[in-house]
Amino acid sequence: MRFRIILNTVDATRAIGNAGGTMKDVKARTVFVPPRRDRGVVSRCIVESGLRPTAQREVVYGILLDKLDHPTADEVFLHAKQEKPDISMATVYNCLDALVKHHLVKQVHLDRAATRYCPNMHEHAHFQCETCGDISDFEGASKPRQSGFKVPRGFKVTHSEVSMRGVCADCSGKEKTK
Ligand SMILES: [Zn+2]
Ligand SMILES: [Zn+2]
Repeated sequence: MRFRIILNTVDATRAIGNAGGTMKDVKARTVFVPPRRDRGVVSRCIVESGLRPTAQREVVYGILLDKLDHPTADEVFLHAKQEKPDISMATVYNCLDALVKHHLVKQVHLDRAATRYCPNMHEHAHFQCETCGDISDFEGASKPRQSGFKVPRGFKVTHSEVSMRGVCADCSGKEKTK
């Protein structure tokens, strides 16, 4: 199993100006992942995030909630086209950007592959299976203080991303029967 942790740190002395505001905004919203395919809830979540619930945003957010497999923008586009044949790739990108900016969805970067999207806003790490490529969410604290990393004095961590690789339960089961 291989670990990869990305820490975005800012020098605390330079961040004093705006750090308070942004952190408070993020904490103010309770993390809530709506059940799949509940369109009423999907649109309410979009409204609560401060976005206007357009049909396109509902389709894109609905796909991410439905397909909990961390799709890339291209994959979201393919699914969106089935529901809304007139939707364009540019619109899908705009919707994804808006959902990310409003903390409904987060971007996931695994190695050098295309950016993926995840609607699970709970603290979690990503595990990618080296055999089948599936990505799973591992719930748990991924805060750098709890991960055992020593954050030097004067640095303030604003974002951390934990990713692991290995073999998933399905694939290791298959390997055992060979
Ligand atoms: Zn995830
Ligand atoms: Zn697997």
